[in-house]
Amino acid sequence: MTSDMPDIVTRFAPSPTGFLHIGGARTALYNWLFARANGGKFLLRIEDTDTKRSTQEAIDAILKGLQWLGLDWDGDAISQASRADRHREIAQALLESGNAYKCFATAEELAEKRDAARAGGERFRGDIWRDKQAEAPENTPYSIRMKMPREGAHTIVDRVQGSVTVQNAELDDMIILRSDGTPTYMLAVVVDDYDMGVTHIVRGDDHLNNAFRQLPIYEAMGWSVPEYAHIPLIHGPDGKKLSKRHGALGVDAYEDMGFLPEAMRNYLLRLGWSHGDDEIISTQEAINWFNLENIGKGPSRFDFDKIDSLNSHYLRTLNASELLPYIKSALENLIDHALSKTEEARLLKALPSLAERAKRLPDISESAALYCDIRPIALTDKAAKQFTDETRPVIADVANELEALTSWNSEDIKNSIMSFAEARDLKPGKVMQPLRAALTGGKQSGDLAETLEILGQVESIARLRDQAAA
Ligand code: GLU
Repeated sequence: MTSDMPDIVTRFAPSPTGFLHIGGARTALYNWLFARANGGKFLLRIEDTDTKRSTQEAIDAILKGLQWLGLDWDGDAISQASRADRHREIAQALLESGNAYKCFATAEELAEKRDAARAGGERFRGDIWRDKQAEAPENTPYSIRMKMPREGAHTIVDRVQGSVTVQNAELDDMIILRSDGTPTYMLAVVVDDYDMGVTHIVRGDDHLNNAFRQLPIYEAMGWSVPEYAHIPLIHGPDGKKLSKRHGALGVDAYEDMGFLPEAMRNYLLRLGWSHGDDEIISTQEAINWFNLENIGKGPSRFDFDKIDSLNSHYLRTLNASELLPYIKSALENLIDHALSKTEEARLLKALPSLAERAKRLPDISESAALYCDIRPIALTDKAAKQFTDETRPVIADVANELEALTSWNSEDIKNSIMSFAEARDLKPGKVMQPLRAALTGGKQSGDLAETLEILGQVESIARLRDQAAA
């Protein structure tokens, strides 16, 4: 970066009216990456001016969602509502410079004019008082409206959308300060972005029209306009607007479903940004490579299969001690007791192969439960059917064979079972099936010898004898 270029400052500016949904999370990620990629700053502003719809609960959910995703912001989160005095100050300055004016119209008058204009096929710009400031009544409440340019046009060279032009005649004289003295979003966003030194605004393309309404404020104040990058929205797999059914859920729902933050980051990155054909992109690579130019111009499609496949990739990159904290509390709920040291030790051995077969964290906690069940373990109906007058003595004898083993590893365990089967002239399956049922109670399990190795000699033999004796 050359020294005469301002440092890059981005921001994420959610309205706290609900959870941090997937589209917001992606916007936050892109802003974060762009700042981190350029040694800039990533700021967080909570747009809580709509006091009726904003809630502390939503603010907490947004902060928690960002933290879970690992998107750390610089400095403190800024509350837009707390800056209302500054917004009023700018509204006043715009009034004094003649770029804004007082509007004394009542809601009824405005509605009437709007209806009349519509009936005549015309556009109402809210401009009843635009040219009547000399007639301003005394002691009458007023709102402040922006005196929008009427002639000409504005062009934004958007970093994603390219060059976009809007005729100024299409811009209404929007309210910047309501008659109760509260600033509108349209004013607050510009003042805050300016004061926060934001250089790049990366947000959903549902805000592109707003950018044109915000430009005249920058111009009137003599402030330089930030760069814009308006990202296309996320659609469902069917190409329709993303709905709850498609996955338009809060980030917390993805955490609950058992996705890892790194998988989510990778997924959200690819959902609208590309680097050649790369699908698996680590966060460090994303920071190295991220740019605005490679954001796609078309809407992206949300796809659960893709998150699953990325998640199973990232699950496999974690070692057992990294994985354990992710599944611990879900597992303790399943087994209904706190993990003992012995069980933890078993899990540290079991987790790598459990992660191999898993898509989401609950797949792992569910398959890990068998290592923590307390004897005598519960049996599924199907498992219980394995124990007959014929199989019980077999299980008892295998238990004795295994007890004699002096080295406890899957190789020796397997050899011992196979030679037992051979000596009795039994098909291996005839021995393995009841053994598996006795050891797992009918839960899904992988390689039998490995399961035995992980359970340990004492526990395995005890589980076998529980069924042999029953
Ligand atoms: N608060 C706006 C929203 O949540 C975003 C405004 C902006 O990014 O400029 O949609």
